[in-house]
Amino acid sequence: MERKNIDWGNLGFGYVQTDWRYVANFKNGQWEEGGLTADANITMNECACVLQYAQTCFEGLKAYTTVDGKIVCFRPDLNAARMADSCRRMKMPVFPEEKFVEAVIETVRANAQWVPPYGSGASLYLRPFMFGSDSIIGVKPANEFQFRIFATPVGPYFKGGVKPLTVRISDLDRAAPRGTGHIKAGLNYAMSLYNIVDAHEQGYDENVYVDSATRTHIEETGGANIIFIKGNTLVTPKSDTILPSITRRSLLQVAKDYLGMEVEEREVLLSEIDQFTECGLCGTAAVISPVGKIVDHGKDISYAGMGPVIQKLYDTLRGIQMGQIEGPAGWIQEIC
Ligand SMILES: *Cc1c(COP(=O)(O)O)cnc(C)c1O
Repeated sequence: MERKNIDWGNLGFGYVQTDWRYVANFKNGQWEEGGLTADANITMNECACVLQYAQTCFEGLKAYTTVDGKIVCFRPDLNAARMADSCRRMKMPVFPEEKFVEAVIETVRANAQWVPPYGSGASLYLRPFMFGSDSIIGVKPANEFQFRIFATPVGPYFKGGVKPLTVRISDLDRAAPRGTGHIKAGLNYAMSLYNIVDAHEQGYDENVYVDSATRTHIEETGGANIIFIKGNTLVTPKSDTILPSITRRSLLQVAKDYLGMEVEEREVLLSEIDQFTECGLCGTAAVISPVGKIVDHGKDISYAGMGPVIQKLYDTLRGIQMGQIEGPAGWIQEIC
């Protein structure tokens, strides 16, 4: 297989149109047979439910080349399950979980020339998503839906070395109790855009959200979960309004089973975050981005950045993903 002629090491995180995407339509109460298409555009009515009432959710995962030259992706079954949860909460039809994984595999296979080589640090980002596509003006769910997966090559996250992030405790909220913070809905991002632009304008990389009911404990950032380290213990917030990160879940298992660490998933108080030595943000994009500083209204709380424990967690999970370390059964989905 001949790879596309791309400078993999210098790719950023932006949309690059690849050759094939997967499409399946839901009509008359059932999923039609899905398949690949070369058409990257979607045509729909001006009154489509997604355009008027934001009935949409998405997923994100990566395909990449391992040390022995295989193209794989990481735990796509968990993306399938999470998307099913998102669909149920958004009153959208679940795309069957086994078909989701098959569609991921089909999309990657068709775009194999776009999968970056081992060692480049780049990967092929996959974006499964679903939206209500028929015209809806009275407030109710759509009747017709489209499920799609496109692929786009993305560059190494830590280009030119790891820069620890500076983040702020946000004054705006991302999720309400009993709301939709725990599902991957586009609407959670729509309302965070104002705040992320404001954070960047004020010189911060990200917003750290606290719980909106009491504003006393830490939740997560706009697009990544948060972990803290104290001694040999990994501490991460437990809350019904956090998006359950697959990276975080995997890191907890790596900490316990590979590194012999203690793991605490519990409420994390804003008032205790100065007692941790390391802090990181976790998600598919970077695995872990180290945090150097959390700013809480003029008070700076400093961390070790890529400290020894976060480095070990990162190296171990990356090692498992890249096929250098034997992972738990089922973590690596071979594609070709
Ligand atoms: C997608 C997402 C994450 C990260 O989840 P991963 O499965 O690890 O990629 C964290 N927080 C939010 C709000 C997200 O949307």
